[in-house]
Amino acid sequence: MSVNLQTPIDYLKGVGSNRADLLRKELGIHTYQDLINLFPNRYIDKTHYYKINQLQRNTSEVQITGKITGFKEVTQKRGKRLVATFQDETGTIELVWFRGQKWIRENLKQNLPYVIFGKINWFSGKFSMPHPDIETVDAHKANISSAMQPIYPSTEKLSARGITNKMIIKIIQQIFIESNGKFVETLNDNLLTELKLINKSSALLNIHFPKNQELLARAQFRLKFEELFYIQLQLILKNLIHKSKIKGFSFDKVGDYFNTFFKGHLPFELTGAQKRVLKEIRSDLGSNAQMNRLLQGDVGSGKTIVALMSMLIALDNDFQACLMAPTEILSVQHYNGLFELCKELNIKIEILTGSTKTSKRKQIHEALENGELNILIGTHALLEDKVKFKNLGLAIIDEQHRFGVAQRSKLWKKNTSPPHVLVMTATPIPRTLAMSVYGDLDISVIDELPPGRQAIKTVHRYDANRLMVFKFIRDEIAKGRQVYVVYPLIKENASMDYKDLMDGYESLSRDFPMPDYQISIVHGKMKPADKEFEMQRFIKGETQIMVATTVIEVGVNVPNASVMIIESAERFGLSQLHQLRGRVGRGAEQSYCILMTSHKLSSNSKTRLETMVRTSDGFEIAEVDLRLRGPGDIMGTQQSGVLNLKIADIIKDNDILQHARHQAKKILKENPSLGHPDNSAILETYRSLGKYKNIWNYIS
Ligand code: ADP
Ligand code: MG
Repeated sequence: MSVNLQTPIDYLKGVGSNRADLLRKELGIHTYQDLINLFPNRYIDKTHYYKINQLQRNTSEVQITGKITGFKEVTQKRGKRLVATFQDETGTIELVWFRGQKWIRENLKQNLPYVIFGKINWFSGKFSMPHPDIETVDAHKANISSAMQPIYPSTEKLSARGITNKMIIKIIQQIFIESNGKFVETLNDNLLTELKLINKSSALLNIHFPKNQELLARAQFRLKFEELFYIQLQLILKNLIHKSKIKGFSFDKVGDYFNTFFKGHLPFELTGAQKRVLKEIRSDLGSNAQMNRLLQGDVGSGKTIVALMSMLIALDNDFQACLMAPTEILSVQHYNGLFELCKELNIKIEILTGSTKTSKRKQIHEALENGELNILIGTHALLEDKVKFKNLGLAIIDEQHRFGVAQRSKLWKKNTSPPHVLVMTATPIPRTLAMSVYGDLDISVIDELPPGRQAIKTVHRYDANRLMVFKFIRDEIAKGRQVYVVYPLIKENASMDYKDLMDGYESLSRDFPMPDYQISIVHGKMKPADKEFEMQRFIKGETQIMVATTVIEVGVNVPNASVMIIESAERFGLSQLHQLRGRVGRGAEQSYCILMTSHKLSSNSKTRLETMVRTSDGFEIAEVDLRLRGPGDIMGTQQSGVLNLKIADIIKDNDILQHARHQAKKILKENPSLGHPDNSAILETYRSLGKYKNIWNYIS
């Protein structure tokens, strides 16, 4: 009879209600199961025994077998210390106690074999070990945690209240005693055999009390696999269910709009990546299931044309389409660009933003409802209840992370049936992460830039080089180029940051005086109309320098701007730096990005700057970013319970993740209901995970 792992920890021998409360509050441990799944952070390897003559001055923690041959008390400035001579067949060291000397003298015997463990010090020609862990050889052999000692996660409060690592080891051992070391298997035989995984009981024993490094590695592999496997299983199942439940409009044909555009109006040849992605989208749109697709593509990779061509497919099937962007400026840019591209196609296209005049707004609402209007572009204004489509077939959202989940679902509700949804983002999410977090979304990637783009030259300069940088700016402006100078605004309304910005603006105004030079300034404290005015001056080329905060981060397109100067670059995150750099390099001219910093740099900042100088591959940058910050910080993923992994690491265990995803797919393909007897362990486990509802539902 195995123990019920759902038993509250209060019932475990040695726990009691006070400790149970602490464990609940501090570590979120409620049941036996939670406790058995509290995996050690690390282990102290006690599989190795040192001989005293092997000790080196830089050795740290060691384990030695030997005996005590004598005690002495040494009086020192404050109190006294107890010193024992400890000896093996190769030499002697000193054991030292500053406290608890009485107990030591009464309990430790001379000439009895002991195993000691602890940090060694080298002091005036001798090795010594203060306050060693010490046990008799017999006790040592009987102790199941003696080989590799687990070190468990803890909190200050827990240690302060006497729940030590030793204590946790003891209560976990108690579960092994009560359960006889037998735990229900949670994977099926096929998986265990195919991947040569050790069984659950053995994995749990060896994750807590590994006999040796090899068994520990096998236990870790098995448990990491299991963790990732069930996440993938849930994500894939959810995707399957979504597809079978939510009927989408089937766009059966590719018709005149698309074909006319493709044959006669495409301004350039599509890249291979653009073609591939269009095919993926096209296949979704014609599949009867509602599309829920994330389109990732670096800045400048050409997502807009893909968006347009997808919308043309919707139009060919007598549906309307909309494109939503996070800012007014971006919406206007999209509108102008798409209007230009479509002007010979007989398409009615409009823009709706916060600043659309009431009369115009009315017109748009009407045309939208009676179906005259084919494509609507705009900001959040699209989400207002008054905006009603006749038949919205496709909704495209640019730069997804500026919109909340709730806002997206509003779009969704604009129809009796949900429209197909395409979310475009220029913030590349590393594939590994995307797979885990958005495993229930389909993902398309444009991983190729249009041909002929010149790589942006990126350099790192210190504040002391400012005169040279100014000279460089002057030269570029003389060639007719425009320049961005960006200041960090880490906290909205932080007056220090505004001071930096204004100081910078003044100093630039002195070095680049009117009337030869004109400078625009844009920041978050300005009124929208003033911002827009200043932006427009820069877009029209009336000003040569744009001083700004990160307001300009998203999507602004001024092909003539060829220099991006980022002040205090060490204060920006990698993805932000990458986004900012993407504002230049949009025209035919060689572009530059200059990262200005002070001399004082943390190693983290150095890595960020070096990465920016080394590469402009958004995915590589995202990987580095993920490694530096950890997945929890990546935009939007905080809400994802998927990342609260107990043992696996999304980055380091990428290989295991691939295996897990592959196996989950395979099993679901053969047996989507998991009803086959071979899969009973999996179905059982999957069901018990029901309470795990934390997976972020991305769109719906
Ligand atoms: P983003 O993915 O950042 O939204 P855009 O769609 O704005 O990129 O495209 C960036 C620029 O590249 C635009 O000027 C666009 O016209 C151009 N472009 C896009 N695709 C191609 C292509 N296949 N060949 C040449 N130029 C292209
Ligand atoms: Mg874009």
